Amino acid sequence: MTNKTNLTTSWGAPVGDNQNSITAGQRGPVLIQDVHLLEKLAHFNRERVPERVVHAKGAGAFGTFEVTNDLSKYTKAKLFNGVGKKTDLFIRFSTVAGELGSADTVRDPRGFAVKFYTEEGNYDIVGNNTPVFFIRDAIKFPDFIHTQKRDPRTHLKNPTAVWDFWSHSPESLHQVTILMSDRGIPATLRHTHGFGSHTFKWVNDEGQGVWVKYHFKTEQGIKNLDVNLAAKLAGENPDYHTEDLFNAIEKGDFPAWKLYVQIMPLEDADTYRFDPFDVTKVWSQKDYPLIELGRMELNRNPENYFAEVEQATFSPGTFVPGIEASPDKMLQGRLFAYGDAHRYRVGSNHNQLPVNRPKVEANNYQRDGFMRADDNGKGSVYYEPNSFDGPTETAENKTTPFEVTGQVAQVGHNSDDHYTQAGDLYRLLSEEEKTRLVETIVGAMKPVELEEIKLRQIGHFYKADPEYGTRVAEGLGLAVPEEARSIK
Ligand code: NDP
Repeated sequence: MTNKTNLTTSWGAPVGDNQNSITAGQRGPVLIQDVHLLEKLAHFNRERVPERVVHAKGAGAFGTFEVTNDLSKYTKAKLFNGVGKKTDLFIRFSTVAGELGSADTVRDPRGFAVKFYTEEGNYDIVGNNTPVFFIRDAIKFPDFIHTQKRDPRTHLKNPTAVWDFWSHSPESLHQVTILMSDRGIPATLRHTHGFGSHTFKWVNDEGQGVWVKYHFKTEQGIKNLDVNLAAKLAGENPDYHTEDLFNAIEKGDFPAWKLYVQIMPLEDADTYRFDPFDVTKVWSQKDYPLIELGRMELNRNPENYFAEVEQATFSPGTFVPGIEASPDKMLQGRLFAYGDAHRYRVGSNHNQLPVNRPKVEANNYQRDGFMRADDNGKGSVYYEPNSFDGPTETAENKTTPFEVTGQVAQVGHNSDDHYTQAGDLYRLLSEEEKTRLVETIVGAMKPVELEEIKLRQIGHFYKADPEYGTRVAEGLGLAVPEEARSIK
């Protein structure tokens, strides 16, 4: 015998009949005085919050991070200090372009967003499964994403728009090469790496800083899906990755990643051969080797998808003391855009929801707003500075000062070398990987309507590596443009 609970309205009153509306006579019509019916239908109409414009389709899990190598000489962030230190976390994986119900096994970067519930407040690493990105200035993001979404007239994906934008934005070439390679369709979410992608600043107890990049390396090993199998799965089981992650955790086969960092002395940023704040570039691991930091294990499934995955809100600006922004222009734009997306999507009090709420108390002077679900500061002092006992700032947590130089201007980045690192990646692939890469690109570019777009893009591949460009050109039945040949 189970404990029976009475069905109630949202205001807690018992419901007498949940099967039959109140009607005038047996035939009806239905009476407006049936407030239970009105509330039930009206609430149902409001069950959806706006899906994310990007990263709409996702899967999440809870887990634990454990420090395996103490790096407190570089950062005072407590979650990274002391071997054996454990911090609870929540992760959300996602595809980028598709809608909430779209297929998992598509060719797309995977979002890799981790929220650490630290003793100093939440810290979010909001990265991807690739170390670089398509663009390096957030001002280009809405245009880029328009090309990844549906055509306004046909409501279909539009390869012409995709390659038109990429061919006009050659800084995308490195990420395009990763995306079109075997790693563009991971076998599961467990078999892919994660990257913070941007450069961040770490600051230690003495106020000394270093630049840092994050690499989560899968302990399951890299595994990718064959394109034909991926297409079949997309039809047969569009939630293949979501299901795999849920089932693995449910049966106790907990996926894990080792977290490594690359550390760069602040002064190297001025002389390094690539701009270390350009998110279309990596730092070579030969120059800045990976240093182990810890291990992340996913060990608990959410109890409720909407409450914990759909309402999870990540922002690359969710910092704790000891971790700060870098001048990376793409990061700087994201510092605004993510919080703003959540204020719109979930509401200005999104950080009060259980999945987003820090484990420590949040004490500030923010008040009111839609869906304020806590005690709203009760009668406590609601402005600052004040003569009462309200929370006060802590000078040791000020952002560390840094020098800036140059004119205020719209000058772009100081390098147009979009080719070296894309070429390095092409050259490290095996012969079979190169063949599949070229086949995938050729297949993706064939439907492009304008030949001029194809030729412009072939030129970029050629500048990365003449063989790369030549093979794509041959696959498309075109010749490498003279302009590209003369530069190399
Ligand atoms: P390294 O030889 O030190 O590193 C090569 C990196 O490439 C490794 O992290 C390796 O990761 C990764 N890799 C190997 N095969 C593939 C593949 N098929 N697709 C994507 N990544 C792969 O050289 P560098 O650090 O000098 O980098 C050379 C090139 O490697 C770069 O231009 C970049 O394109 C790529 N790369 C570099 C990364 C970095 O942070 N430096 C990270 C990822 C890629 P794994 O151990 O998983 O195989």
